[in-house]
Order: sequence, then C-alpha cells, then structure tokens
Amino acid sequence: MYNFEYHKAKTIADASAMITQKSEAKLVAGGMTLIPTLKLRLAKPSDLVDLNGLPELKGIKREGSAVVIGAMTRHVEVAESAEVQKAIPALAHLASHIGDPAVRNRGTLGGSISNNDPVADYPAAVVALNATVITNKRKIAADAFFKGMFETALEPGEIVTAVSFPMPEKAAYMKFPNPASRYAIVGVFVAKHKDGVRVAVTGAGPCVFRQKDMEAALAKNFSADAIKSIAQKQDGLNGDIHASPEYRAHLVGVMARRAVAAAG
Ligand SMILES: Cc1cc2nc3c(=O)[nH]c(=O)nc-3n(C[C@H](O)[C@H](O)[C@H](O)COP(=O)(O)OP(=O)(O)OC[C@H]3O[C@@H](n4cnc5c(N)ncnc54)[C@H](O)[C@@H]3O)c2cc1C
Repeated sequence: MYNFEYHKAKTIADASAMITQKSEAKLVAGGMTLIPTLKLRLAKPSDLVDLNGLPELKGIKREGSAVVIGAMTRHVEVAESAEVQKAIPALAHLASHIGDPAVRNRGTLGGSISNNDPVADYPAAVVALNATVITNKRKIAADAFFKGMFETALEPGEIVTAVSFPMPEKAAYMKFPNPASRYAIVGVFVAKHKDGVRVAVTGAGPCVFRQKDMEAALAKNFSADAIKSIAQKQDGLNGDIHASPEYRAHLVGVMARRAVAAAG
C-alpha cells in the first residue's frame, strides 16, 4: 500500500470539497473494492475521504411510490429491511445474494454503483427499476448513469447520496453466480411497470445493458414463453476463464426466463 492522508468527512459538502481540491483524492465507503485495490498497489490516492461518519447518507425510507435508499446503506440492511421486502422484494433478494456476509456487512449501495463493476448486481436493479441516482449536485436517470466498464456519469467532486427506486408492479432478479466470489457471471433483473417492462442484464457485457427485444415481447405478454425464442447476441459480450461470450449469451435467456417466471 502507498502512503495517503486519511480524512473523516464531517459533512457531504466537506467531502465534496476535499475530493475536488486534492488532486488524487478518493472517497471511501465500505472499502470492499477500494481497500483491496490499494493493498495491491493498483491505485495511489493522495487522500482518502471517509464517508462513514455521515448519517444523512444512511437509511431506507418510503417516499410516495418509491423507496429511497441512502448511499451508505449496507447490503445487509437492504436485504433485511421490512420496507424493501414489502415494497420491492426483488431488491431485498438481490442484496441478500451479494458476496458473503462480510461483504454484505461492509459494502454499500453507493460504492457499488459508483464503482460500476461489470459483474455487480445493483446496476441491474437500478436500470430495470428505472431508478434515479441522487447526488450532492443533481438527479441522474438510471439510463444515463452507467456509461461503460467502471465508468459512470459522476463528475469530479460528485457524491452519490441516495437512490430512489420506483415500486414496480412485479419484479425479480436471477443470477448465475461465480461460485467463488458470488459476483454475477450473468444476472438479469426484470421489472414490469405500469407503462412497460424493463429488462437489465449485468455480468454479460462490459456494462449493464437493457435487453430491448425481451422488453418489447414482455410488454405484450408477460410470460417466460414470450421470450423463449429471443436469442441474446454474443457480439461484445465478455469472455474470460469463467465463461465464453456464447455461454453468457445463453445464460441471459435462461436467467431472463427464470426471472419472469419468478416475478409472475
Ligand atoms: C469478495 C467480494 C465479493 C463480492 N461479491 C459481490 C457480488 O456478488 N455482487 C456484487 O454486486 N458485488 C460484490 N462485491 C462488491 C461489493 O458488493 C461492494 O459493493 C463493492 O465492492 C463496493 O464496495 P464499497 O461499497 O465498500 O465501496 P468502496 O470500496 O469504499 O468504494 C468503491 C468506489 O466507489 C467510490 N464511492 C464509494 N461511495 C461513493 C459515493 N457515495 N459516491 C461516489 N463515489 C463513491 C469510491 O471512491 C471507490 O472508487 C464483492 C466484493 C468482494 C470483496
């Protein structure tokens, strides 16, 4: 690990100012991704700005027909929240299947989506549920937030403060997990809303994406049968020691059909 200065932020404005002023400063949330990156000397931040002392970034509340979850809310809190289990059970289910107990006790919603790992689970929920990412500067629609591999719309000094998830009519998330880490080799989140269906795929490509052929078919007939003949294209999908693009494309269809069946 390289040397760095540690700061415990007292306010969101304070944290934003510090990461803007210091050339190579980084925010730290649960540290689940950042700390291993530092230990492996893959990053050399000048300063670490800790968000853990900011209660305004934590918690889960119902606002009209949406559930708003603070950026520093841990995965275990989402999984065990009676509010989330009642309003969007698929989201509680997703959180309960992230990593292992240690990761779920430290990892945060804000850290997960800001990091935008191509195999992370939350990006699929954010996109399929058509959520709004709330930052210290603005509100960003899900479709505009995830830009590419480990890349988001966040600008320098911008901090995710919460995510607002509209309640769908029905939803489910199914993932084929890596047996070691539990990250998604492929994960598909299907959500039926009043005005249409959204199908978001994680793990398969460099960044979460919507499967629009499936969305159109499910809007007409929300059943697993309606998408059984829709093949996911292999072009541009990830291939690694865990799965080839061909296998991942196959898994998109399998996970999507299982998710529709579970939601129905
Ligand atoms: C062994 C292991 C298994 C895992 N398995 C899974 C899995 O199955 N599914 C899954 O989805 N994830 C998995 N994860 C990832 C985990 O869920 C964490 O959410 C993820 O590592 C981010 O960690 P964190 O919240 O602690 O953020 P940190 O590591 O503290 O930060 C991550 C990045 O986000 C930035 N950041 C943090 N908070 C904010 C904010 N509020 N605003 C702006 N930027 C911010 C930081 O500067 C940093 O660049 C796993 C991790 C590990 C170590």
